[in-house]
Amino acid sequence: MYAYADKTLTCADCGQEFAFTGTEQQFYADRQFSEPRRCPSCRAARKAARGDSGGGFGGGRSSSGPREMFSATCSSCGRTAEVPFRPTGSKPVYCSDCFSARR
Ligand SMILES: [Zn+2]
Ligand SMILES: [Zn+2]
Repeated sequence: MYAYADKTLTCADCGQEFAFTGTEQQFYADRQFSEPRRCPSCRAARKAARGDSGGGFGGGRSSSGPREMFSATCSSCGRTAEVPFRPTGSKPVYCSDCFSARR
């Protein structure tokens, strides 16, 4: 039931022919991408060279990592404290020990 027939494209980098399958064409059409000009291995190589993650095929990973933590110096004991907000310097920052001791 694919609306697209497989075709063979020529890589602009290495000149090798590679398959642009109907499924991929559907994927590209859905996202209004233009046809790939490079074979998958050249695309991967370029991606790696750019240090670019995300986008393209094989995506779908959600990038919601752990909450960003900032290092600050505890205003009470002077130890390094990890806080979930950016320390502004105008407010005292306490490590978890001093924080719980103050409550
Ligand atoms: Zn190539
Ligand atoms: Zn402390």
